Amino acid sequence: MAPRSRQRRHKKPPSSVTPMVVTPPTVVTSVPLTLSKPDPSIDALGFFSLDNNVPGLSQLILQKLNMKSYEEYKLVLDGGASVSGFGFGCLQEMFQKMEDTFRFCAHCRALPSGLSDSKVLRQCKRCRNVYYCGPECQRSDWPEHRKVCQELRLVAVDRLMEWLLVTGAFVLPSGPWPCLAEVVQGWDTWFSMRCLQLDATLDAVLGSHAMTTLWANVRRPKPDPDVLQGSLKRLLTDALSRPLTLGLGLRALGIDVGKTGGSTVHVVGASHVETFLTHPGDYDELGYMFPGHLGLCVIMVGIDVCAGLTQSTSTSPLEPGTVQLSGHRGLYHDFWEEQVETGQIAHPDLVVAFHPGFHASPDLMEAWLPTLLLLRDYEIPTLITVYSHQELAASLQILVDLDTHITAYGANPFASLKPEEVYSNPNKQPVYCNAYYIMFLGSSCQLDKKQLEEKVDGEV
Ligand SMILES: [Zn+2]
Ligand SMILES: [Zn+2]
Repeated sequence: MAPRSRQRRHKKPPSSVTPMVVTPPTVVTSVPLTLSKPDPSIDALGFFSLDNNVPGLSQLILQKLNMKSYEEYKLVLDGGASVSGFGFGCLQEMFQKMEDTFRFCAHCRALPSGLSDSKVLRQCKRCRNVYYCGPECQRSDWPEHRKVCQELRLVAVDRLMEWLLVTGAFVLPSGPWPCLAEVVQGWDTWFSMRCLQLDATLDAVLGSHAMTTLWANVRRPKPDPDVLQGSLKRLLTDALSRPLTLGLGLRALGIDVGKTGGSTVHVVGASHVETFLTHPGDYDELGYMFPGHLGLCVIMVGIDVCAGLTQSTSTSPLEPGTVQLSGHRGLYHDFWEEQVETGQIAHPDLVVAFHPGFHASPDLMEAWLPTLLLLRDYEIPTLITVYSHQELAASLQILVDLDTHITAYGANPFASLKPEEVYSNPNKQPVYCNAYYIMFLGSSCQLDKKQLEEKVDGEV
């Protein structure tokens, strides 16, 4: 099987490989919102490559979002254009248009526009996620679809429930951890630690007006409370996977967060995925993981970092016990030369790349190479994440070929538990964000190199 590619863009022109964030204009608030998280496969292949699997899909999405072109869509994502002009009349219409972007035959790929008048696309009744142009397609597809139908059912619920996170109706539990941080080694211990607080939060959301409004507007039956609760928990792991994975890296690489002046983490190759709708408090959980820390500064660096985050960047000094989140738009090696080497921004104690995906294509590898070599040669503790075991193997091979000194790799105890559908190819096995990690530090030939330098120096 060909490697699934779903990496973040690092250096490509905007139209080629860009994460997809569906941005429904809304009547609820004036800021652009996202309902569905970027699809992994779209990250990799780009917005227009959706058409490789389902011809015409990219146009359908633009049309449903009332946008004329990809440029317009991108502008809204960047926060450079008002979305008010696209306004939907009501919430119901918005959910309907969102759902319409999923409407194509999962078997023959027909779009509604390509069907004869007598035919309509009908949903798989089990998952309520994929569509078929008729019983023949549904029957022929079942042997494949049955393997993922169950998981896609969760995807369909999560996609709608995400609205509660976006509108702020579902606020993640926060505050210092009520136990020794060392005890929390994964989701099991995290959930039991937050148990009391979490139960209260989930009960409040389940009984909220926002929940009722949501299901009244989506034209499908409201699932049972335990299904809804499961979804909220998955969304929570998805939101907290990134800060806690940074914490995993700080822990595993033995980084001292009691350093005077605070510690700095760079998130490289950051894009819309990490920065769109990011709030200042989103990484607070990282701080609670290290009680007594002297300040943690998280800087997102990438050419697709959302304008909102770079604008909100604070210049105030890092206070002990606080987590400061900021963004910088640009390529990492440029950022390094202009900001880090000149001393304007602190040297990173840890560098993290979420799903860099350099294994996926020579183009992406070429784009990532300067950054990888820089991290290796400056001996910066680095952590990367990947979506699957297959990607783990491919990425490890590349890092070994680059002579990086790999210190650890494996399944991430703080992986997202929310399945991600491969949007334009729904029968592909769903994947999970940050499923595996790799950590490296410097070069595996470091010793040889040092010895060599000593030898050369000695000879001079
Ligand atoms: Zn069909
Ligand atoms: Zn199904």
